[in-house]
Amino acid sequence: MNIPSLFKSKKGTTFVFFAIILTVIVAFAALSVDVGVIAFEKAKLSNTVDAAALAGAQELVTNVSNTNNVVNNYIAKNNSGLNESTIIVNESERSVKVTSSKTVENNFAKVFGNNSQDVIATAKAKVENISALNGCRPIAVIKQTFVYGNIYVLKEGASDGYNGNYAAIALGGNGGSTYEDNLLNGYSGTIRVGDKIPTETGVIAQKTFTSIQTLVSRCNHTPPCTYNYYNKNCSRIIFIPVVNTLYVNGKKYVDVVGFATFFLEGAVNSGGQADIIGRFITYHADGETSPDINDYGTYGIKLVK
Ligand SMILES: [Zn+2]
Repeated sequence: MNIPSLFKSKKGTTFVFFAIILTVIVAFAALSVDVGVIAFEKAKLSNTVDAAALAGAQELVTNVSNTNNVVNNYIAKNNSGLNESTIIVNESERSVKVTSSKTVENNFAKVFGNNSQDVIATAKAKVENISALNGCRPIAVIKQTFVYGNIYVLKEGASDGYNGNYAAIALGGNGGSTYEDNLLNGYSGTIRVGDKIPTETGVIAQKTFTSIQTLVSRCNHTPPCTYNYYNKNCSRIIFIPVVNTLYVNGKKYVDVVGFATFFLEGAVNSGGQADIIGRFITYHADGETSPDINDYGTYGIKLVK
């Protein structure tokens, strides 16, 4: 072998070696595109299934028979090309479990005979009773079995008051203006089950009447909200603490045992008294939940394993 041909041979070897390396690099790059697509689809499916389970659990609270529809509709609107989902509604556990899968076509792995991959995601959402809330109104209701859609008088007029107590409670301070602000806007602090709250004594008729009128008039939804068809953020929806008793003498502390939600029908003002008229509704709110407290119809929903 002469010297020039040696060089030539070396060049050839280098070229073949480089070509193999390049092919391997291109193959890995191509496969990593497939891997990226799979990861993207997996994340998207996971988000869809999480949100669908949460939406289903919300429906479980108000209309059990419609739960599957809500889950399927949510999935159809927010993702596409999925295989049929499995939905397990457990009424006694108050949970909704959703499993979905999608067959994702490979772009490059096909070269190796691997045409597609299935991605799969599961989520379970559970309904629990609310144990802490922001935005409560400064009135309380005594613990009882509430009936959905029934009318409740939330603040009794003067002749019904027990030793100065008319169901008003002092949240974040005493006095008429604090009470009025809390009634109109909801208390900005957090109330928890187990808290002791002082009652607010006296008839606060005019402030109560005008505040409730204002809340009712603030509903500008079309069609106007009703207790069984409402916008979730409507001004006519209020949540209030459920307490162990309101039969106390003067300003006394009462125990918070839960939360109840009412749809405001209005206020009745007669002879210097103001009654707040609301219909009891079940409602899912944003707040801490607990499996260990009584059910007063106000729920929180969370994803569980
Ligand atoms: Zn409304």
